[in-house]
Parts: sequence; structure tokens; C-alpha cells
Amino acid sequence: MKNEIVIGLEVHVQLKTKSKLFCGCSTEFGADPNANTCPVCMGWPGTLPVLNRRAVEFGMLAALSLNCEINQDIKFDRKNYFYPDLPKAYQISQYDMPLAEEGQVEVELDGEKAVVGIERLHLEEDAGKLVHSTAGAESYVDYNRTSVPLAEIVTKPDITSPEQAEVFLRSLKQRMEYLEVSDCNMEEGSLRCDANLSVRTPEGELGTKTEVKNMNSFKGVRKALAYEAQRQKKVLSSGGEVVQETRLWDESEQITREMRSKEEAHDYRYFPEPDLVPVKIDSKWQSEVKQCLPEMPEEKYERFQAEYDLSDEATQTLTASRPLADFFERALTGDVSPRSVSNLIIADLKREMNERDWTINDVNITPENLAALARMFEEDVISSNVCSELIAELVESGGDPEAIVEERDLKQISDAGELEAIIDEVINENPDAVEDIRSGADQAIGFLIGQVMQKTQGQADPGQARKMLQERV
Ligand SMILES: [Zn+2]
Repeated sequence: MKNEIVIGLEVHVQLKTKSKLFCGCSTEFGADPNANTCPVCMGWPGTLPVLNRRAVEFGMLAALSLNCEINQDIKFDRKNYFYPDLPKAYQISQYDMPLAEEGQVEVELDGEKAVVGIERLHLEEDAGKLVHSTAGAESYVDYNRTSVPLAEIVTKPDITSPEQAEVFLRSLKQRMEYLEVSDCNMEEGSLRCDANLSVRTPEGELGTKTEVKNMNSFKGVRKALAYEAQRQKKVLSSGGEVVQETRLWDESEQITREMRSKEEAHDYRYFPEPDLVPVKIDSKWQSEVKQCLPEMPEEKYERFQAEYDLSDEATQTLTASRPLADFFERALTGDVSPRSVSNLIIADLKREMNERDWTINDVNITPENLAALARMFEEDVISSNVCSELIAELVESGGDPEAIVEERDLKQISDAGELEAIIDEVINENPDAVEDIRSGADQAIGFLIGQVMQKTQGQADPGQARKMLQERV
């Protein structure tokens, strides 16, 4: 069956090296405008670029994680164009001898698997950033981002829906985060995506493609591509022709707008960068880098499934990010079961993180603290209420959970003698509920258990309380 929509993506991933691609300037985000610049990245005449070895290695790791072939011989080229954010009036990129080619990534959408081919991955330097005054009269330029290393990843036109494009991007981001080669922060611009899209004509031919730019979120990509596909279909069904052009996604209007006619490679007058020698990536260097490849998401998922007795969903959640998976495994100390650690992470810890919009790196509870809580809960030393409250507290301020339980006397009351007096009280104070239970309304027992929990500040063992209430009523 022929695909109705054909999409190819061009993704720019900012590599998080400490220094820029061809000079020693810092790549730190958020520095004062033009603080991170030097004659090399400002393009002064007579200066010479020096290639950042680490950037090449980060690019190699990214390429390997996308199952690409690394090329032994690579070179850099000048892509010539004029723009105020480009002080040299050319960008050093890679044209016909890129770092890597011919990769593929498997994506899954609604249970259906598909393979997205990777055409190439090449290295290039970023441009600066224009800042326009709100009054609109002045424009400023910040060259801090000039020459920060980027990996440009170009897919084959294998993507068949806007939703699949989003799934691919999320998977790409996850891989780069696992590798720790990029922050992939779309808001800060360390992950940017352009797309080529075409639809089939009523005659079944593949139509002219347009390029869509300026999509600043995963949702933006999905919406922009859905809009653009509809727009092209409308043009074709009304007998018109799709024009090859670059279009900008307008987030506020939720439409794509014509920006300029699409440039071709020859418009840029590419030629080999005369100030950089071609680079040889021999098999020794390649295998050294290969050894730095960490366990990737799908491998971690398989191993978690094999090693720990967890649900499919829990495994997905824990392996979604590498720091979260590491936190989980570091909490598996001593005799605590993986399942109870996983439950505390997914139910309590994630809730606390979401409420604060934090990642696992921001929390103050340590894996050892979480393991101690899981153990106390497993051994019925503390109730689930106390456990949840302590997680909330430790996420915020940290601390030793065992000492806190001891100090504040938070141990669960499951001793029948201690509970008996409280249960007597609850029964005496709630004759209506007791009557309801006797006449068969079982849900009233939940209300009475709630009363017991309240009187004990959450420390009663709810299972024990239920048993005793049932016996007494
Ligand atoms: Zn510099």
C-alpha cells in the first residue's frame, strides 16, 4: 500500500561539549551576550579553526546509537550564505563526506512497529542569535551560540504520519539523553527539528514537498505537520499545485506560512574548508568510542524485564530516562524487593516530582533513603500513609528516614491491644455507620477505618484495623 503522507526530518542536536567546535570558548547557556566569543568564532580574518575531538566522539556515539555506519574519511566544508548571525558569512559544515550514514531506528506507534532510515549524521557549527527589541526598531546579535557543535541528523522519507514523526523525535531525544551527549532541551534550542512533507496527488503520484520550520515542541511538530498535510491535500484536490518552498509554523495562529522559496545545495556554493585537514577515523578510534556506548533504552528494558519481577508498564516508566533507571537500581540494596521499590518510585516519587516539575536529579531523597522506606513498609514498621508522607518530606529536604521514624514515633500500630481502645472509641462515636454495616452496607467499614487512621495520625495498620472492626461489629 502506498503511503498517503511522506515525511523526512532534519534534526539538529546540540552536543554538550564544554568548548565550541573550533575554538576554546565556553558553550554555557545563559551567559551575558557575547561573553563567550573569541576571534576564531567571530570569524576574524587570519584566525584558524581547530577541531574539537570530543565533539567528533559525541557525534560518533550519537551515530552508533542510531545504528549508522561511521565513515573512515570525513571532511568539513564551507556552506556560504550571508546573515547577521553568521559573522564569517559561511558555516563550517559537512557536505559530501559526513561523519556517518545509513542508520535505522525502530519506532512503535499504537502497537505497530516501523523502521525509520537515517540518511546521514554530520557535524556543523551553530549560528548566533538575533534578538529583536520589543518596540521593533532595533535588532541585536548575540554570538555566544556561534560555533557551538551540532549534529545534524537527516532521516529518509520513511515517516508516514505526524504522530509517527513525534514518536521518532521522542525516541531520538531519549537516545541522546541516554548517551549524555546532549540536553535535548527544545526550549533552549538544543534540539531543533525541520521537516519535509509531501502528499500523494489524486493520481497517486508523490507530490512536491515543502519544508516546515520553526516547530519548538513535540506537540508543535505533530500539529504543524498535520496542518501542512491538510493544506497540501486541499491545494491538490482543488486542482492547484503545491509550490516547493520553506514554510514557517506559526504557533499562535496554528498555521504554516510561506517564508521563502526553497534553496538548493548549489545556492550555498559548498567547497572544502581549506583551514581544516580531512579527518581519518581509524578502527582503533572507532572501537574506543564504541566501548563508551552505554546500555541503550531497549537493552535496559529487556534486562529489567528479565531481572526484576515488574509489570510491562512499570518497566517502561523506569527505563524512560537513564537517571531514573539508575536511581531505581541503586535503591535495590539489601533485602528489599524490586517491586516495592518500583511501586514507591512510580506512585509516590514521580507524583512529588511532577508536582514540582522536577526531574530525578532535583530530588533530595537518596536511593538509600528510598530503600530504607521500602524496607520499613515491607516489614510493616510504617503504614503506607506514613511512607508517602516521608517520601514527600525527603524529596524536599532530605534526611534519614529511620531516624525520623524513631524520633517522631511514627511506627505503625498493628498491635491488637493498642488498637482496641481506639476501635472502641470509633464504634461508640459512629453508631449510624455501625448500623449500616450490620444491615449489609459494607462500604461503611471504609469510613470507620478512615476514622481509626485519623485518630492514629495514619499510623494504624489498616489491614489489622479492618480485621478487628469486622470482628467487633
Ligand atoms: Zn571562540
